Amino acid sequence: SRKALIAANWKMNGAKALIDSVSGALAKIQVDAEVLICPPATLLPLFPQTATLALGAQDISAEVSGAYTGQLSAALLKEAGASYALVGHSERRQYQFESDELIAAKVKAAIAAGLTPVLCIGESLTERQQEKTQQVIAKQLAAVYASHPKLLLKSVIAYEPIWAIGTGESATPEQAQQTHAFIRNTLASYDKDAAQQVRILYGGSVNAENCAALFTQPDIDGALVGGASLKPEEFAQICLSI
Ligand code: 13P
Repeated sequence: SRKALIAANWKMNGAKALIDSVSGALAKIQVDAEVLICPPATLLPLFPQTATLALGAQDISAEVSGAYTGQLSAALLKEAGASYALVGHSERRQYQFESDELIAAKVKAAIAAGLTPVLCIGESLTERQQEKTQQVIAKQLAAVYASHPKLLLKSVIAYEPIWAIGTGESATPEQAQQTHAFIRNTLASYDKDAAQQVRILYGGSVNAENCAALFTQPDIDGALVGGASLKPEEFAQICLSI
């Protein structure tokens, strides 16, 4: 069975003070899941080292090293404390114009350096309204795994419908489960066994009120939490709801 994963994406928020309040809230509870925090990269080395809290980057370079001003390699982020890296978040696809090809290269770079990539995928509101959700997701998955199915076993997938991110409007548990099952079936067409082991997280307006119902769904293996992860007590509550 798959070990649940509750991941926090702080995005461009937080400061040293949030490290103390979030680690404090998490230290008080016993969680039946892996807990991951993806803070801004500058904060990574400031976290206390604990066996119970994993750290991740919000993005990585596809390159190993060299003349790439402003970029951070997987190896540098690993040295700073990361064991995971978000890859292909919709905000990077949208604001930094990241292509499926670049994202595939980043997944490979993460795994090559010993980081676990959390590949983020999901459709826009228009795509959902046009009933293109499955088509969009199949294309995003194929770009990374169709010719490299071996990468699957070392990956986590996060389904984040763009219309649910930061809007307060989460997908319903049924909507999310339907897409998660589609994702798992699609992955099974690349590698049947790996598809059963890969964790598929849901992200998009997850909060302390709606998380428990999402977590009851068979193909939802955890959450990628944005806004609510900045509130220490609420994030702890989400971790307790798995
Ligand atoms: P919110 O939880 O703020 O909707 O953000 C979700 C997200 O984008 C996590 O990566």
